[in-house]
Amino acid sequence: AKGAAMVTAVAYRLTEQSRQIQQTLAEFRLSKAQLLEVKKRMRAEIERGLKKESHQEAAVKMLPTFVRSTPDGSENGDFLALDLGGTNFRVLLVKIRSGKRRSVEMHNKIYQIPIEVMQGTGEELFDHIVHCISDFLDYMGMKSARLPLGFTFSFPCHQTSLDAGKLVTWTKGFKATDCEGEDVVELLRDAIKRKEEFELDVVAIVNDTVGTMMTCAYEEPTCEVGLIAGTGSNACYMEEMKNIEIVEGNEGRMCVNMEWGAFGDNGCLDDIRTQYDTSVDENSLNEGKQRYEKMCSGMYLGEIVRQILIDLTKRGFLFRGQISETLKTTGIFETKFLSQIESDRLALLQVRGILQQLGLDSTCDDSIIVKEVCGTVSHRAAQICGAGMAAVVDKIRENRGLDHLEVTVGVDGTLYKLHPHFSRIFQQTVKELAPKCDVTFLLSEDGSGKGAALITAVGCRQRELEAQ
Ligand code: BGC
Ligand code: MG
Repeated sequence: AKGAAMVTAVAYRLTEQSRQIQQTLAEFRLSKAQLLEVKKRMRAEIERGLKKESHQEAAVKMLPTFVRSTPDGSENGDFLALDLGGTNFRVLLVKIRSGKRRSVEMHNKIYQIPIEVMQGTGEELFDHIVHCISDFLDYMGMKSARLPLGFTFSFPCHQTSLDAGKLVTWTKGFKATDCEGEDVVELLRDAIKRKEEFELDVVAIVNDTVGTMMTCAYEEPTCEVGLIAGTGSNACYMEEMKNIEIVEGNEGRMCVNMEWGAFGDNGCLDDIRTQYDTSVDENSLNEGKQRYEKMCSGMYLGEIVRQILIDLTKRGFLFRGQISETLKTTGIFETKFLSQIESDRLALLQVRGILQQLGLDSTCDDSIIVKEVCGTVSHRAAQICGAGMAAVVDKIRENRGLDHLEVTVGVDGTLYKLHPHFSRIFQQTVKELAPKCDVTFLLSEDGSGKGAALITAVGCRQRELEAQ
């Protein structure tokens, strides 16, 4: 009888434990009504960003890009491109050929940006970038060419033309001093001058979302939206000039870099943010900023998971109640680990293997819980990202006075490409929340490099026309 009582007690403890774990995770499970609310609020923030009187305080900045059309196939020439702000820093040579047999040929090299440089002085950062360009030009044997350059700079920039943009604020892992408020193109030109080794013609500064949209539009003209679901999260789309109140002119369209990562910075998402989202924010380099991005991008999903695991361990539900040094380490759960843990093809034993690699000793029960935590966090990420996209495509549909819109979204980013479930849940959410839109998603191949070159080509042509 004593044995039976003990078994009952253990069973009770287990059900009580799983009830508490489920209760914790329930906060992450959003209803359709809540997702529709997210969509509605995104739409309201879009309007605030576009309107002259509210632009200044708006959380979602809706930044003009001075890209007025998607490519038409007549782009031609050799261009240099830089890609800064994603998972890797790269320098690229892009050869675009127009005409009947149009083609794009690319050569690129990946460079490391040490964390001391990302978070050092602005001068050090830009000197490092120019050092990498110098190495690349040597490698390609092109030091004397004075090529036109497109700079994919994946941060919010207040642009006043294609080749001028002041950094609004650093995001993700960057925090170099003396850059915020400065014109990034000038910072690059100054660093090139300091080096005194080669000349370049900086023609365009490009957000990665815009590069992605342009790359996809080169293949598929119905592509008028760009999405990045990677280290960071953001979108751009072709907006009517008449709606972009901070730019003169009412004719035609211009691509707007939404900077939707900052959605919620005015508190409008507080009712769906959890204590774990708050902890992630408090531990970040930019507290209070990029709150939506911190709920749905690759750089932070692992951090949310880690915060939940720490809490569950403290409450005695995981890892025998022991918080290891590993679990205290910021950034251990990179997107690639989350993707592995959530892969359906992986047996639990293999999940334990991955946790082991990360330095976490788990029991079989632990690994089940960890997998469920990861799944819940990435599910919410895909859904709220989808709710944001639903707001965008419905806005385009309404702009054009249509009952039904067909549109293509160009997509890039490690989370979207590597994660086993993110893209499917994201797409399904867009479909459910924007039923009047028929949205096709096109993966971009090397959007940042190719897109920057295409925009540079358009910029060069515009300049020639203006000179005539
Ligand atoms: C930046 C955006 C960028 C996005 C994706 C965000 O942190 O603010 O400019 O497009 O990351 O890289
Ligand atoms: Mg990128």
